[in-house]
Amino acid sequence: MNIGSVRGMKDILPPESGKWAALESAYLAYAARFGYREIRTPILEKTELFARAVGETTDIVEKEMYTFTDRSGESLTMRPEGTAPVVRALLANRKTFDEFPARLCYSGPMFRHERPQKGRLRQFHQMGAELFGTDSPYADAEIVALLHGFLREVGLSGVSLEINSLGDPACRPLYQRELSGFLASREDRLCDDCRRRRLQNPLRVLDCKSEGCVQATVDAPPVLSTLCDACKDHFGTVEAALRALGIPFSRNPRMVRGLDYYRRTTFEFVIPGMGAQNTVAAGGRYDGLAEMVGGKERVPAIGFAIGVERLLMLMEESGEPGAAADVFLVTSGKRFLDEAFRWKMGLIEKGVRADMDYEGRSVKAQFRRADRSGAGVVVVFGDAEDSRGAVVLRDMASGKQEEIPRDEAFLRLATIRKEE
Ligand code: ATP
Ligand code: MG
Repeated sequence: MNIGSVRGMKDILPPESGKWAALESAYLAYAARFGYREIRTPILEKTELFARAVGETTDIVEKEMYTFTDRSGESLTMRPEGTAPVVRALLANRKTFDEFPARLCYSGPMFRHERPQKGRLRQFHQMGAELFGTDSPYADAEIVALLHGFLREVGLSGVSLEINSLGDPACRPLYQRELSGFLASREDRLCDDCRRRRLQNPLRVLDCKSEGCVQATVDAPPVLSTLCDACKDHFGTVEAALRALGIPFSRNPRMVRGLDYYRRTTFEFVIPGMGAQNTVAAGGRYDGLAEMVGGKERVPAIGFAIGVERLLMLMEESGEPGAAADVFLVTSGKRFLDEAFRWKMGLIEKGVRADMDYEGRSVKAQFRRADRSGAGVVVVFGDAEDSRGAVVLRDMASGKQEEIPRDEAFLRLATIRKEE
């Protein structure tokens, strides 16, 4: 037999696998700071869950799902996304989550039968978060801030945040009608799929990646102009909260996302110039989803999912190998090893990534290692400073050096990560 893996599905081998594990635990730890706790749902769900939640006329449900009939004749599907299963699990275990808001996060494989290409696989991985039980715009800002903060934490730069509002059941039909009218006038320029979508689900046309459809709809009416007052207010508060948090964003009135359950706020973190696979992470509000999958109550909610393969790809391309240390301790002579070791362990305990050389190499060799570690600050233990009860701190970016009393230096280093 052919021993290659299934097309579009990859083995994750060492040393890559180490990066995966580190990224996943960094994510879960970061989300935990915001109060999100992990949930693990099964890979298989009833097909009906996704048909209802994601939407019968979305690409995912129409042509991308791994669906089969199992031995007892039930139609099952390998989850193509994480939100619908988490909503189902929440509703099925309501007693566990009796107190709203509930904050849940997850990480795991998803399956879609798409055309494999760079940044697009058939088994791929997502890390996500969902916030249930509040329709406050601050919840939207919290979710975006969590995602923005995590992307910064892993050193991803050059990502930009785009946001939009899709309205709610009060105002979206208005927009759908307006868009339908517009699309009718462009009918001849749309692809076959979009001609059908125009009638079934006009918003989907704005998500089409074919160049012809993108061109034909550049001047489509913007959804923001038809929002009702409640949706406008909500969006305004989200924008104001993001500004207050210093999170830069731009509006993208074309962003409709590939799933039907979104309402009001939607957002994407994109890398300019990465082609059609330029979205690293995306999400939005889905206030009606719980009822759509059969829940008896309305559970307003918002969440996001990060594409892990794309994130890792970008982290690699951004050229920074990802610093292994924040602080590197350089010793000029073995007599400083004891003390430097105590500092290293003390700093690690404070949450600072500290490293040193145990081998007693030359100061020059230690600086080379410090450089490779990516540490922003180097501490030098030397004879002259030692006689004054001090150490030298060197800022690696500017090359600036400062002699500082030992206690003060340690305290300053212990808070170095929070200052960044
Ligand atoms: P795209 O517009 O890129 O097709 P999508 O709208 O299908 O994305 P979501 O379903 O919202 O995306 O998934 C969130 C993230 O998961 C995407 O932004 C992307 O990073 C990642 N993702 C989605 N599909 C794939 C895939 N087939 N392979 C790898 N990553 C994917
Ligand atoms: Mg897609």
